[in-house]
Parts: sequence; C-alpha cells; structure tokens
Amino acid sequence: MNRILIAEDEPRIASFLQKGLKANGFTTAVASNGDEALFMAFSDEFDLLILDIGLPGKNGWEVLEELRGQGELLPIIILSACDDVQDKVTGLEGGADDYVTKPFRFEELLARVRLRLRDYHLPQRKDEMILCAGDILLDLRARKAKVGDRYIELAAREFTLAETFLRHPGQVLSREQLLSHVWGYDYDPTSNIVDVYVGYLRKKLGSDCIETVRGMGYRLHT
Ligand code: CA
Repeated sequence: MNRILIAEDEPRIASFLQKGLKANGFTTAVASNGDEALFMAFSDEFDLLILDIGLPGKNGWEVLEELRGQGELLPIIILSACDDVQDKVTGLEGGADDYVTKPFRFEELLARVRLRLRDYHLPQRKDEMILCAGDILLDLRARKAKVGDRYIELAAREFTLAETFLRHPGQVLSREQLLSHVWGYDYDPTSNIVDVYVGYLRKKLGSDCIETVRGMGYRLHT
C-alpha cells in the first residue's frame, strides 16, 4: 500500500512530490496528462492517486468523473491551484477523498496521503465509506461492489441488503430485521422477498457468502 500515482503536468511540482514521497518510503510514477493518468489509474498498480486539476488533455475533473463512473475505488487526493470552496465541494461530491490547495506544504500532503491509505485499507470501522468482509468489498459512496478483483453489479435493494450484512459480520440477522432494514416496516412480513434476495446475493457474491441459520435467519460468512 505504498504506490502513489502522481498526475501532474508541471515537472517542478511532479519532481518535488516524487522526491518527498520516495524519501518517505513510497514508490511513485508520474502521469503528465489526463489520458495517461486514466490509463495508469485503471492499471491496479497504484494504491492512491494525487490528481492535479489543471492537466492537459482530460483535466482532473474529467479524470475523476471517469474513474468513479467506472467504479474505480482508488483513493484520490485532488491537487488544485484554486482555493475555491465550490471546487472543493465539487471534488468531494465527485468522489475525491481529499483536496489540497496549491501552494501546499509537503508535510500536509503527506499526512493526507497516509490518512487516505489507512482509511482505504482498514475499512472495518463503523460509518466508513468502504465496508469489507472476506473478499467482498462495498464502496458505499460509489455504490459499487467488488468480490476479489471483480466488480459486481448490484441492484439498489441488493446493495442495501449486502450493506446490512457487511455492517453486521458474523451476526445472525432475522428475516424481520432484514425486511425492516432493507424494505421498510410497511412490507408484508409473510413475504419471502428476503429469501429471494439472499438468493440473488449468493449468486452474485458467492454461494457460501451468506449462511442460513435454521429457524433464525441469515448470517454473513466472514
Ligand atoms: Ca497543472
């Protein structure tokens, strides 16, 4: 978890970042335009992307949009010359994990890099944006699911059901609990919809990911 992709077209800044990150034990690569940044970010060779907004070709916003649009979960720290609150909001809403304004102190960027890497790789805390159990990973912000290296398409209810299981790993959840959590209390309690959806999740996430606990409900296998 120490490979950093730097998307920055100004050689002076790129080399400043590279030197600093290398001195702190990271390996780095530089992309000097948007298309290169996209190509490299999709390669799975990196653990974090530092993304300049003012890039030639596709700019940083477009790179961000395309990465998140395709479900890429790589942590992204935006590097921007504009200290504009609206820009920050746009960046964070667009799925960036953090935002650093130029000029910046290297120590500040380094602290954020470490923080984002830690968040990404230790996602078990409650209310994190990423949940994982076994080889299943859910990105709550991007609404994307992954099993191992594979992205899985989940419908909205399937996602919410999966999220409920991942928030209670190893815990038996009754049909009533799942029904009220995912479908709301007004749903017919005699309905077998929970069983049907557990079946869908098993098909998509792996047949033994959810265990039936006879007479009690279901439990996520961890
Ligand atoms: Ca630039």
